[in-house]
Amino acid sequence: MRALRAEVDLDAIRHNYRLAKQQKPGARAVATVKANAYGHGAVQVARALADEADAFGVACIEEAIELREAGIERPILLLEGFFAADELPLIDSLRLSTAIHCEEQLALFASYSFKQPVDVWLKMDSGMHRLGFFPERFVEVFALLQRHPGVATLGKMTHFARADELSCDYTRKQWHTFSETIASLPGPVSASNSPATLGWPMAHGDWLRPGLMLYGISPYAESHPLADQLKPAMCISSEVIAVRDLSVGEPVGYGGRFVTTAPTRVGVVAMGYGDGFPRQAVDGTPVLVNGVRTRLIGRVSMDMLTVDLTPVEGVAAGARVEFWGSDLKVAEVASYCDAIPYELVTKLTRRVPLFYKG
Ligand SMILES: *Cc1c(COP(=O)(O)O)cnc(C)c1O
Repeated sequence: MRALRAEVDLDAIRHNYRLAKQQKPGARAVATVKANAYGHGAVQVARALADEADAFGVACIEEAIELREAGIERPILLLEGFFAADELPLIDSLRLSTAIHCEEQLALFASYSFKQPVDVWLKMDSGMHRLGFFPERFVEVFALLQRHPGVATLGKMTHFARADELSCDYTRKQWHTFSETIASLPGPVSASNSPATLGWPMAHGDWLRPGLMLYGISPYAESHPLADQLKPAMCISSEVIAVRDLSVGEPVGYGGRFVTTAPTRVGVVAMGYGDGFPRQAVDGTPVLVNGVRTRLIGRVSMDMLTVDLTPVEGVAAGARVEFWGSDLKVAEVASYCDAIPYELVTKLTRRVPLFYKG
């Protein structure tokens, strides 16, 4: 059997969820498990948090259905609401909560008769300019929904564009717009994704919405005292499947991108872009072989990639290779691949089996 695998540490995810909640005692948190829990397995992650997550956040109804079918009973929030009218009966019967971010959603929602009222989060565009009502219209829509019999609790939400940039003033500006507009409106407030949860206490509101941080990945480019307490939840590993010794001046792999400048021991590893390892990875992208840090050399192929084994003592076929995990952060790997860590974890393909502990 091919050795490539992902190990997911559910205790780490619980630890990270608690770290999010500790940032504002008394606040609740939507554990964001969209995109198959950022590649970690939505059902397993939701089960691991089923006793403590206040709610789960997903991007679409298909993701919500998957959780309900797996027996997850907690509230589930559709972070972007619904896309078509035929989802409303499902929102009703599956007891989902929904964001409402635009006029089309509002019209569909308003004309539907719910059997039981649902929790609604009205979304404001406070400056990201992606989803949400502008402040003036937000206040009007809020008043409309307050009177709607289909609404149980009506919350106010917004999303930050630059919360990962801790010395950038834009988050403060967005929070100012949002909090000024909603000051006199009742109901819960939600604004903080992971970078805001750990770095912008002013914007915590009543419901945090951590995503990336649950998986132990720092939302910041620089080190940060809270982000440094996160425990990486995923370890991707495989094995060396072939070894060869090359002399100086020999090309390695497709296109001969890497050419040896010294006698080099090359290891071929079972992992490629068909598994989700980015083809953009440059020569020098770090990998661990038997725990020793070395580098990718040559282009990533679909099923294999090549690494420099020269610095690793006594390595043979079968040696363990780690691509990211506790000892090599996915964010660092991403920085060599013209990518962000969100992409590396969500782009793993189904060819990478997930194993769980904790
Ligand atoms: C994905 C998402 C989050 C979580 O963002 P992270 O940066 O992963 O913490 C929060 N809120 C909304 C609306 C989202 O779509």
